[in-house]
Amino acid sequence: MHNPKWCLFYDVHTMPACPDVGHGFDADAFTDRMKDCGVDYVVFHARCNLGVAYYDTKVGIRHPSMKGDMFGDLAAACQRKGIALTAYINVGLSHEEALRHREWTVLTTEGYTYKPDRLNHFFRSMCYNTGYGDHVVEMVKELVSGYPIAGLFLDCMHQPPCIGIECMKEMKERDVDWEDQYQLAEFANLSRVRMAQRIADAARAINPQALLYFNGVCHEYQQDIGTYLEYECLPTGGWGYDSLPTWGRYIRTLGKPVLNMTGRFHKSWGDFGGIRTEASLENDCLHGIALGMRTTIGDHFHPRGDINHAVFDLIERIYSRLQKLEPWIDGAKPVTDIGVVAPEPGFDYVHPEEYCRGEVIVKGATRMLCELKCQFDVLSPKRSWDDYKLLVLPDEILLDAEKAAKVRRHLRNGGAIVSSAWSGADPEKNGFVLDEWGVKLEGESPHDPAYILFGPEVAEGNPDMPVTLYERGIQMAAREGTRTLAEIVAPYYNRHWDGEHGFVYNPPDKGTGKPAVTLSGHVAHISHPVFTSYFNDAPVPMRQLVANLIDKMMPDPLVKADSLPSFARAMVTEQPGRRMVHILAYVPERRGARAEMIEEPIELRDVPLSLRVDGKTPQRVYLAPTEDELPFETVNGYTQTTVPVINGYAMVVFEE
Ligand SMILES: [Zn+2]
Repeated sequence: MHNPKWCLFYDVHTMPACPDVGHGFDADAFTDRMKDCGVDYVVFHARCNLGVAYYDTKVGIRHPSMKGDMFGDLAAACQRKGIALTAYINVGLSHEEALRHREWTVLTTEGYTYKPDRLNHFFRSMCYNTGYGDHVVEMVKELVSGYPIAGLFLDCMHQPPCIGIECMKEMKERDVDWEDQYQLAEFANLSRVRMAQRIADAARAINPQALLYFNGVCHEYQQDIGTYLEYECLPTGGWGYDSLPTWGRYIRTLGKPVLNMTGRFHKSWGDFGGIRTEASLENDCLHGIALGMRTTIGDHFHPRGDINHAVFDLIERIYSRLQKLEPWIDGAKPVTDIGVVAPEPGFDYVHPEEYCRGEVIVKGATRMLCELKCQFDVLSPKRSWDDYKLLVLPDEILLDAEKAAKVRRHLRNGGAIVSSAWSGADPEKNGFVLDEWGVKLEGESPHDPAYILFGPEVAEGNPDMPVTLYERGIQMAAREGTRTLAEIVAPYYNRHWDGEHGFVYNPPDKGTGKPAVTLSGHVAHISHPVFTSYFNDAPVPMRQLVANLIDKMMPDPLVKADSLPSFARAMVTEQPGRRMVHILAYVPERRGARAEMIEEPIELRDVPLSLRVDGKTPQRVYLAPTEDELPFETVNGYTQTTVPVINGYAMVVFEE
């Protein structure tokens, strides 16, 4: 099975009206440019979201103007040049096929087969429980048996709920309440997971080594179906810069090879004439590498076959620089000491509104811990939380019996916990589940806004004044033996309308005696949802509070880099015999209405860096790939060095 490393991904969505598909295509020239970039793996469309095929299909619809067998020519050229080629099929969308087979489409709960916004390409989607499901399987067989491909990339597999006759009959058989949106969404998920399994079975029956990834099927649902994972994330194309750090730290815990898929577009997919700056695209690649992911860059193939040399030049410059790091990237695994638990439903987006509530929390926690240079994974609520020194339970980690058992095990093994707001409460939010929290839950905070006054143990770096808690939290009381590290200060009056005035000026009044932060044994608890608040408004005192608590609970973090600016990132990976600290110094700048721009790397100088020794014997510290030696010493269990210059990125290697 091919192990993808330096990859490209091509969209080839082409209107059936296009008059000259492939008329200028030179597969050799195209793959020569891939070789220039050191590419070992490429995903290219066999059949696009317009529903037309770029190979000589007997099953589907050839693009009407395609000359020859474009995909076949590419497959042959890739085979000659040792590039693994994966065939892309858009499973969720297939517009030309939908046009000819309206009975294959989703009938939405509102009764649409064509939704009103016809320029949104999801206006019409395919139902896998119709004859379309069999049709897709036939195309899969045709491709896997007919072409020398490494695998399949199955896209847009987020089938919306369907009330067409096939789905309706099965829902009735299964006693699914088809008038209940929640149950409808569950059935739609069952349909897409089942489709993924059918595709996998058909492909593996022909090629047991086929690489398989199902984009749109939640990653945990394809654990036993697919072979590798990708995370599609175009930071300037709608995903933003908080997604990769969060999702990357989650997906890498699933035990499969993971590709970080970015794109060359200034905006998003389909932006033919848009191009990223070099620093911006390189930042994405490096960020994924630092997280232990391999890289793939998305482009859109010109339907005539024109080679976009400017894009290839850009990718070649970036890949040729990064490929010098290959010896230190190959097989490298992340090293962490903190686990951040994602709220239910974790990264399961079957019910998008539930997912989005949790996403704010987990992205806030990720941003905060990244700025603090913590080494952490983001954990599924449904999988293991073992093997971390510290668990962060942000804002809304409610403990059912299973989660309570995980927390108990963690504490029994000597682990520490930083939790906030409702985390630690039972699913009905009646009280804290474990005595170890050392606090009594008294319901929602009565104050709007509440203020926090930091006590001496969490005062470091924070202002000596009542600081606003922007989001509503809980009210709690400390039990005997629990220490109060910060106090809630009430406002004179809450925000409200009394019939005469809108109360919008709400200065802090007096301390309430109620704790804002408590410490009980190995559990620190903050009364308010500081992680949600950090995602929404980024108040620095909240980050400083969490930093002070982490420092108290885990005084010896894996990495110490206190003088690195907040915008810089530090991540650790390891290979046998060495650990690598990746330092990134890039800042996306908000420009105008929408753009988030990285135009240049930022240069940092003389940055002290310490890596916890962890029982190893440091032999050598150097920069990769130049192998410039860095002087180091071992002090108090840390290998300490100073990085002279970081120009956007540095990899510091600790041979041990
Ligand atoms: Zn259906």
